[in-house]
Amino acid sequence: MDQQATGNPATGPATDHLGETGGVVDLGMPAPGGAFDEHHPPDAALVGDCVHCGFCLPTCPTYALWGEEMDSPRGRIYLMKEGLEGEPMTDSMVEHWDACLGCMSCVTACPSGVQYDTLIEQTRAQVERHHRRSASERALRGLIFAIFPHPKRLRLLRGPLRGLQRTGLDRALRRTGLLERVAPSLAAMESLAPRLERPERLPERLTATGERRAVVGMLTGCVQGAFFPGVNAATGRVLQAEGCDVVVPRDQGCCGALSVHNGREAEAQRYARRIVDSFEAAGVEWVVVNAAGCGSTMKDYARLLADDPAYAERAARFAERVRDVSEILDELGPVAPRHPLAVTVAYHDACHLAHAQGVRAQPRSLLRGIPGLELREIAEAELCCGSAGIYNILNPEPARELGDRKAANIVATGARLLVTANPGCLMQVASAITRSGHPMGMAHTVEVLDASIRGLPVSDLLPGTNAAPDAVSAG
Ligand code: SF4
Ligand code: SF4
Repeated sequence: MDQQATGNPATGPATDHLGETGGVVDLGMPAPGGAFDEHHPPDAALVGDCVHCGFCLPTCPTYALWGEEMDSPRGRIYLMKEGLEGEPMTDSMVEHWDACLGCMSCVTACPSGVQYDTLIEQTRAQVERHHRRSASERALRGLIFAIFPHPKRLRLLRGPLRGLQRTGLDRALRRTGLLERVAPSLAAMESLAPRLERPERLPERLTATGERRAVVGMLTGCVQGAFFPGVNAATGRVLQAEGCDVVVPRDQGCCGALSVHNGREAEAQRYARRIVDSFEAAGVEWVVVNAAGCGSTMKDYARLLADDPAYAERAARFAERVRDVSEILDELGPVAPRHPLAVTVAYHDACHLAHAQGVRAQPRSLLRGIPGLELREIAEAELCCGSAGIYNILNPEPARELGDRKAANIVATGARLLVTANPGCLMQVASAITRSGHPMGMAHTVEVLDASIRGLPVSDLLPGTNAAPDAVSAG
């Protein structure tokens, strides 16, 4: 970023617009000719909440990688302020906003309560309206959004992908390095694809085991449904075992998370309306989600649909009923007996669970409730693994660096099993762990609970590793 043109928010801008209130600005509507139009520009009051203290800097992955002010939360907020004041939207501004992973680590770290999550979402929608991307970038984004939010299209990809994996052609292609040289983003996409499991189709209704304690609807998700059907199956079984009737609406579709995180506001709203319709019709008490990015978006539907008179109230009611699967299980409390699993586990906080939803204690408490399981914490836990929705496809190089850093911290725990609650994190971390040469098992929190409730052997969670049980104390 050109620091001369923008000034340096650490030391004060070239022209001081901060006024006499210690950084509190009141910019009102965006200045004409500036970066933003009047449809939900970055909220000036929220921009003004940033007092430039810099507490967020050490937790920001892009600042950790590059040490550039404009690639920190504070710098990005400063660019928003410039846009509000009348600076036109430049390629450089967009680069710095694009480089943000949307991990919300800065939201957790900020002592002033700056709502950076809202700000970057508003900014990204403006970028999509006012910035023309290069032809290759438009093509890549077009391809991603023609496939990823469409569960049926993703499922169609399974056949060819499984073929590649079974014949070993995927590994052969990777060894040539050709795809990486020609199309790094496609190479990143290929390397992230998980080993595909047998498809498991859930029935539309699963009945509670024993006394019914709740009726829940379940989001099956796009990537989760197509690439991790075992996670959805495990979610259904664990909820049943804990006394829930589980309804799986067939017509639910995408929740809109990828769209909303990439500024595709109208598309995200379309998906959100369909989800609200679908789960309202299912007549459930709670809507349970096992993918962190989807859950955080669905909890924010009230804001996404606030301008829609037909949906605003319904979206607000819907959002109040959304729970991550670990939250609902923790709220209900366990009734299904747990069998021991003698294994050491490193739990990785998915950013959209820990930072965006504040869900940290519940998955840990559920895992600690399994006899024989020992939980280990990962150093630099607040730093994103580099997955961040489609960030690792759009920005493969920094994503890879962050993935390798996360893998090194995970390996250093000495744990045999990595547990997390987001399909993107599972793919990103699995790929980085493979590169590290220290194979370990990968599982979603509910898969570990499912294995314990069903009394499965630890080896089922550790495929491809030397799967003897760990000698761990009961925990
Ligand atoms: S911690 Fe909050 S107030 Fe301080 S610089 Fe970062 S965003 Fe601004
Ligand atoms: S969301 Fe993450 S990457 Fe973006 S500014 Fe905040 S900490 Fe940095």
